[in-house]
Amino acid sequence: MDRRAYLKLMGGLAGAVVLGPLAGCSGLNAGRRPAPVRVERGLIKRIDVGLRPFRPSGFVVRAERFDGKLVVHNYGHGGSGVTLSWGTAHRAAQHVLETEAEVCAVVGCGAVGLATARLLQERGRSVAIYARDLPPQTTSNVAPAQWAPHGLLDRDGQTPAFEQQLREAGAFAFERYGSLRAARYGIRLLDNYALHDERQPGFPWSVQAVAHLFPEIEEVPPEENPFGTPYALRYKTYQIDTGVYLNALAEDVRAAGGTITVRGFQSLEDVLGLPERVIVNCAGLGSRELFGDEEIFPVKGQLTVLEQQDAIDYVLTGLGFYMMPRHNEILLGGTFEHRVETLRPNDKATERIFRRTQGFFERMAGRAVSSAEPSGSRLREFAVFT
Ligand SMILES: Cc1cc2nc3c(=O)[nH]c(=O)nc-3n(C[C@H](O)[C@H](O)[C@H](O)COP(=O)(O)OP(=O)(O)OC[C@H]3O[C@@H](n4cnc5c(N)ncnc54)[C@H](O)[C@@H]3O)c2cc1C
Repeated sequence: MDRRAYLKLMGGLAGAVVLGPLAGCSGLNAGRRPAPVRVERGLIKRIDVGLRPFRPSGFVVRAERFDGKLVVHNYGHGGSGVTLSWGTAHRAAQHVLETEAEVCAVVGCGAVGLATARLLQERGRSVAIYARDLPPQTTSNVAPAQWAPHGLLDRDGQTPAFEQQLREAGAFAFERYGSLRAARYGIRLLDNYALHDERQPGFPWSVQAVAHLFPEIEEVPPEENPFGTPYALRYKTYQIDTGVYLNALAEDVRAAGGTITVRGFQSLEDVLGLPERVIVNCAGLGSRELFGDEEIFPVKGQLTVLEQQDAIDYVLTGLGFYMMPRHNEILLGGTFEHRVETLRPNDKATERIFRRTQGFFERMAGRAVSSAEPSGSRLREFAVFT
């Protein structure tokens, strides 16, 4: 996709979105200066690994008939599956609602399967979820889940039809996250900082989507930029604490009469053997084996999970790594290993992320100390890191 087409896409996305949910949350962290993260080996809790279900041409939502059964596909969300889940679920549900089926099966219990099941229930259908892995064992649980529709988008690989789907899915999902009760579903609206080594001529590509969605986006003036980079953007977006969120959705499914059954499928025939006549395929990467999709492949990502620290309530992206907080821990990431299937941590990547983030936050702490007045509160805040 060229730059103009992309801007059009994201402009359209913004136009389709109701900005209401953010309005009440604006200024959440206003005036608070981001604190540096302490990156120490002793603070590492674990390394998490997940395989993003990536399709260069984008996610799939379509219906397919197999001898008297209807399979509605909803998979292949790459690095934005939590973000877009409600939006693609809405589209998948429309296919189901064209049938008379009162009960439908949903294969998969990640963010996509659970959102799909909930929307079907809300629209009067009974739902039976079948999945090999349930939360907390899904890829969706691994995601730090910044609300960002552009994750891993192949900028050049999109068709106008996909752009339209992305626009609609983003708009629907954004509104839905804004309407969920924040505490119950683990949703927070956080300050995000996108950093760059060089001054940018406009919003960088990866931020343009949210730039249009969030009217408060701004360039951080040099005197307020605690990161020491030539360029920093600040904006707010949702952060979804997937452990809390997916459990809450699974509870909602059960409370509405749905069932969740652990079951691994080996083949298409196996899936078609389900008693339900309408089946929604939300198997993520599993769609490759079950439905023979040759385009989908894993993009492995890993996260260094640190103990929680006070005052780390912002998100940092850019410079080859990211930092995203959960309510009880801090995630350091930024690895994208294409077509790597293993869930074993890559030690080199772990070391790279550790060194980069440690160096970055130590420099940040040093700057904070040297620029603070001797008796100022900022000095007390950062002195511990020197
Ligand atoms: C490191 C990392 C960072 C990420 N960051 C973000 C982010 O910031 N924001 C964001 O929106 N997204 C992010 N993602 C991407 C996101 O995690 C995925 O897009 C999302 O989890 C896909 O959801 P899903 O429900 O399709 O897949 P999954 O969560 O993988 O769920 C698939 C379900 O299908 C089941 N299944 C698969 N095969 C079979 C089978 N043969 N039989 C039975 N059941 C089967 C599984 O058991 C599981 O229940 C990140 C991912 C990683 C790894």
